[in-house]
Amino acid sequence: MKKIIYTLSVVFMIMANVAYANNNVKDVKDIYTTEYAKEIVYFLTQKKFMGREAGKKASLPVIKFLENEFAKIGYEVIKQPITSADLYEAKGEPKKGTVYPNMIYNVIGKIEGSDPNKIVVVGAHFDHLGKKKGLGIHPGADDNASGIVALLSLAKMMKATGCTPKYTVLFCAWDGEEKGLLGSRYFVHNWYKNRTQTDSIVHYMNFDMVGRTATPENPTVTFAWNNNYPYLLDICKEAQKEIPAPFNVILDERKGDGKGGSDYAPFSKKDIPFIAWMEEELHSDYHKPTDTPDKLHWEKLKKTTLLAYGILERLVF
Ligand SMILES: [Zn+2]
Repeated sequence: MKKIIYTLSVVFMIMANVAYANNNVKDVKDIYTTEYAKEIVYFLTQKKFMGREAGKKASLPVIKFLENEFAKIGYEVIKQPITSADLYEAKGEPKKGTVYPNMIYNVIGKIEGSDPNKIVVVGAHFDHLGKKKGLGIHPGADDNASGIVALLSLAKMMKATGCTPKYTVLFCAWDGEEKGLLGSRYFVHNWYKNRTQTDSIVHYMNFDMVGRTATPENPTVTFAWNNNYPYLLDICKEAQKEIPAPFNVILDERKGDGKGGSDYAPFSKKDIPFIAWMEEELHSDYHKPTDTPDKLHWEKLKKTTLLAYGILERLVF
């Protein structure tokens, strides 16, 4: 795994391969607010949701909440139910063996593009580990309420442009990530099963744990991308010019071979050009009840989301 600390001073790119020419798209970066970010994180980490475990009754109001948020922003909302039988098919496992939760749901906000057969998928999981015996509730503020902030904020920003994107964009809140990427695996499997010849997923962008940093003075995020598509790196470098320093972006080149510990993996397996945003390293509260909202670095979350938006708008407008 090759990691390069990227600094602004060394970047000078000619963006010949990036088709970002729509000057009519207005600047919507001020749509992102830390107030909204906090509202989302503090809402999702409430005790009553019992750590948002996939398939548990306590997480059903979270699903409802996500549906309402997408609807409020102005998107068509799809609640995608996933049954055990579907999952056995999606994961290619025999009928006996693993027991999946009874019913899990992806929540999807959709905006149709001028070419509806090509889709861009943006995703973050909302589920977490639930309540563990002897340990208590796992609130999962960084993992992954932070990613949901990015997801919803990007949806808001895209809507605020008032423009129709080139491609249909699906903002997907995945369920069941912590139980083996259930929601994203199911989505990809189902999509390929039902696709027509002219359909394609042209990009995937994932957020998982983007709310904390080991270097608070100079917050850092990791940008991982499918190395079969080097233009993704060019776009990142171009978009970073718009984000005020200090802000470090660690570049983490990945093979599009399906390997990876988060929801980008099923997309990677299909060699879809993907971008994955994540922490530079796992913090000591990872998968612990101490992953709480007060520990988030709100400015880092904001900068990460704004950079991701800069990339997304170059991909879809
Ligand atoms: Zn996670």
